[in-house]
Amino acid sequence: MKIIVLKIGTTSITKGTNKGINYSVINQLACETDILRQAGYKVLIVSSGAMGLGINRIGRENLESKLNSQDTSVVRSYKQAITSVGQVELMKTYENIFKYYDVNVGQVLIAHKGLHDKDRDATIKNTLEKMFEIDIIPIVNANDTVSSAELEYGDNDSLAARLATLLGAKSLIILSDVKGLYDKDPHKYPDAQLIKTVNKIDEKILDLAGESSSGSGMGGMYSKILAAQMCMNAGVKVEILCADHIKKISEIVKDPAYDLERTSFSN
Ligand code: GLU
Repeated sequence: MKIIVLKIGTTSITKGTNKGINYSVINQLACETDILRQAGYKVLIVSSGAMGLGINRIGRENLESKLNSQDTSVVRSYKQAITSVGQVELMKTYENIFKYYDVNVGQVLIAHKGLHDKDRDATIKNTLEKMFEIDIIPIVNANDTVSSAELEYGDNDSLAARLATLLGAKSLIILSDVKGLYDKDPHKYPDAQLIKTVNKIDEKILDLAGESSSGSGMGGMYSKILAAQMCMNAGVKVEILCADHIKKISEIVKDPAYDLERTSFSN
């Protein structure tokens, strides 16, 4: 199976921090997924957004005091409760939009911990492969509602990398709010230069990624580089590109030499 894992973060699928869904982005994602599917690829999407969309739906003003509590375990429980609302909205949107392309989506919520356990790994792999066989696009998120670790420490970049390696994917494509890895933080320095290819992740690359962060997502560039490192160790190619170029996903999968500003990671 030629498997492509696409990871999209909160910043890319919403119209801003704690704002609603950006329908046009999901529509383009559906269109690209369909093009790849018709070209014989199996696509898995790791999508964040449960938290941001939940806050937007319930209303930040109604949550302010709860999310500002001094007791971190109370805040965590509220966050978990909020993701239950956001996750529904997220899946409802994927379902409604992908339906226009005659594509079935299925929700897969994974506790990060599960991926360290051999039996659960095997179960996850089998289920995902069966979904591919019967032409279902898995839409994966961390199981935020019941596993607090994801909201506190984990992130979907590493979940996507774990799945890409578990499935032996051809590549992992991470959509970001920047074009890729820069030689300095592009949010702070307008003269930052994009690094187009990375063949080895060393301390220097990790240091470059260390500084950056992004709006409403939890990932930032550092977790993306760690994800790339995990994939490279397993021979999975990684592309980090700006979500503004979402319409080019199928082009770069079909032609790795396709001319598009991004950072490509491979050994
Ligand atoms: N699972 C979280 C959510 O859906 C996002 C985690 C992340 O941004 O990496 O809100």
